[in-house]
Amino acid sequence: MHETLNETEIEQEINNLRISIQHHDHRYYVLNSPEIGDSQYDNLMHRLRELEEEFPQFLTQDSPTQRISENVATSFSTVLHPEPLLSLSNVFTPDELQLWLDKAVKQYPELETNFILEPKIDGLAVSLVYEKGKFVRGATRGNGQEGEDITDNLRTVRGLPLTVNPIGTKTIPERFEVRGEVYISKFEFDELNKRRAEQNSPLYVNLRNTAAGSLRNLDPKVTARRNLSVFIYQLGWTENNDLFDSHQKTIEWLASLGFPTNPLMKNVSDTNQIVDYCKNLEAERDSLNYDIDGVVIKINNLASQNSLGIVGREPRWATAWKFAAEQATTKLRDIKLSVGRTGVLTPYAELVPVFVGGANISVATLHNLDHIQDLDLRVGDQVVVQRAGEVIPQILGPVLSQRTETSAIFEMPLVCPDCHSSVTKKDAEAAHYCSNVNCQGRLARQVEHYVSRQALNIEGFGEERASLLVRNGCIKSLADIYLMQDKKTQILNFKNRLDRLRQVARKYGKKNDDRVVQHLKRIDQLDKFPGIREKWFQTLNVGLTESKTLPLHRLLIGLGIRHLGETTAKLIAERYRTLTNLRLANYEDILDITGIGEIVATSIYEWVREPYNQILMDKLVSLNVNVEENQIAFGDALQGHKIAITGTLTRWKRPEIQNLIRQQGGEVVTSVSKNTTILLAGEGGGKKRQDAIKQNVRVIDESTFDGMINSIRMEEST
Ligand SMILES: [Zn+2]
Repeated sequence: MHETLNETEIEQEINNLRISIQHHDHRYYVLNSPEIGDSQYDNLMHRLRELEEEFPQFLTQDSPTQRISENVATSFSTVLHPEPLLSLSNVFTPDELQLWLDKAVKQYPELETNFILEPKIDGLAVSLVYEKGKFVRGATRGNGQEGEDITDNLRTVRGLPLTVNPIGTKTIPERFEVRGEVYISKFEFDELNKRRAEQNSPLYVNLRNTAAGSLRNLDPKVTARRNLSVFIYQLGWTENNDLFDSHQKTIEWLASLGFPTNPLMKNVSDTNQIVDYCKNLEAERDSLNYDIDGVVIKINNLASQNSLGIVGREPRWATAWKFAAEQATTKLRDIKLSVGRTGVLTPYAELVPVFVGGANISVATLHNLDHIQDLDLRVGDQVVVQRAGEVIPQILGPVLSQRTETSAIFEMPLVCPDCHSSVTKKDAEAAHYCSNVNCQGRLARQVEHYVSRQALNIEGFGEERASLLVRNGCIKSLADIYLMQDKKTQILNFKNRLDRLRQVARKYGKKNDDRVVQHLKRIDQLDKFPGIREKWFQTLNVGLTESKTLPLHRLLIGLGIRHLGETTAKLIAERYRTLTNLRLANYEDILDITGIGEIVATSIYEWVREPYNQILMDKLVSLNVNVEENQIAFGDALQGHKIAITGTLTRWKRPEIQNLIRQQGGEVVTSVSKNTTILLAGEGGGKKRQDAIKQNVRVIDESTFDGMINSIRMEEST
């Protein structure tokens, strides 16, 4: 059909296609709101290429088909910036911000406090020159005075207009320069790493370095594949310096020309607003699709900017509010192992402490040996550490350029660091395990897990206490948690004996008696149990009693069976109802449950058959721990009772006793009246006690109440 068109018509169609494609590029890459689908866009491009091939006399450099140059450079030539690209001073606190402003006001007393705030993109600063509305040259910032000519690479950045057209009657300067920051979006970064993973190439760890490397690649085709983006943040030099009177108007004009500008730019008029903006943006930085490392604060009025001028290489009219770095580089001192509740040996990194993400980081998990090998981490390496928000710190990878010959490849130890039993590995899994079911490190973690909220919810064991009780031999199996009351007697007897020994020692004046010294040592050891006092046993008893009534799935969670989470524990408990049934179940039957896969089924089937676990389950049953999915209902012995409480109770906290009363069908009342049936009285408690006597209400003490509750429970658990 071309034959029927004359040259003018063809040129017209080519021009229309270019304007149309530029419009859709702008909708897609700058405004993020495309008006047409990919295939329609491809059709436009295809038609344009077709015409340009057939009529090469109309092919121009600014055509959208010419974004990607075929030429591979051998090096970049140097470009002298007509006006230097400045760097910014930094502030980290509201005080430092105020100091910056005070200096500016001192320099220029007429300063109007009106500021433009914008996110500080963590990318690469570039200078872009336009002539007669066409992009003609792009350069890196370099040292600020001169940079590298990367025009061909910058042309591949799709959000960057190759042509800008004056809108309406406005004209644009014959020559002008804009400045911006080139970056890779988090989305494109992830896509890039996905492609690299498929090709078994090492993954990129840092967005900024990746953007920089992509932009400075000698082959523009490589740059094009990285899908880089750009934000324009400033009009540099122009042939007409009096276009606008404020920075804001300049940016709005640039946006109207089709340049990508940051939508989060804000105009504010005092330092409190600046601080608010900075803090809010720091809190939201993870939700942005690009990395930022702070906020750029600029005086809005351009005449004021000129009056303030430059000191050294920094403008007085702008500064950067810097965020706490989310990534930092530090030395990997060593790789160690921690023992988990299933016996998994998890490697973790010991780091030279580094301040990142607002905290000092000295350890980071390394998950498993495969992970270490995938990252190619070696002890002694400089590594990139990331900590964003409240997320646990992670190591992204080594800085290979700084690797020294002394760096050492990590090898999995042959024995458990805790109990020195052999280390094993199942072929299908990445994890290594301690082979010893009695490993103390492992048991301590099991105790922590057993008492945790989602499992048996028993208060009183922290990480440290669980570990000490295991290492002192007080807990040799999970069932021993229920026997802590017995240890209490031991401890008390022991203390009594020690007191007697002390008396004897005093009597005979043999203060250095070996036995005394020995016992003092043991007492010291026991005293190291943090917070294990009379009160600890009381709290523990409440939790232990309650835990014995919980449904089976809570116990299954507590047992710490590998791969068994809350959802799967419920499915199992609903299917088998009792632990006895579960112990008799065959593998196929477990696998038959909807929602249970082979891994979980195998894990449960093997766990209940393990002799060590069978002993544990028998012990728990003998301790009256509920092993049925039906939760043991509390009695109704207090049904109809209205119970008031007074004085100081030693066995329960108020909420606990109130809970217990309600679970027994009783009602808690706040004052004693004719309708009150029982007053539970602790130490003290004058008025209610007098009221009770007056109203002829039965007054009982704690041990009477405890007896009632316990007798009820004993009946129920048999
Ligand atoms: Zn071990």
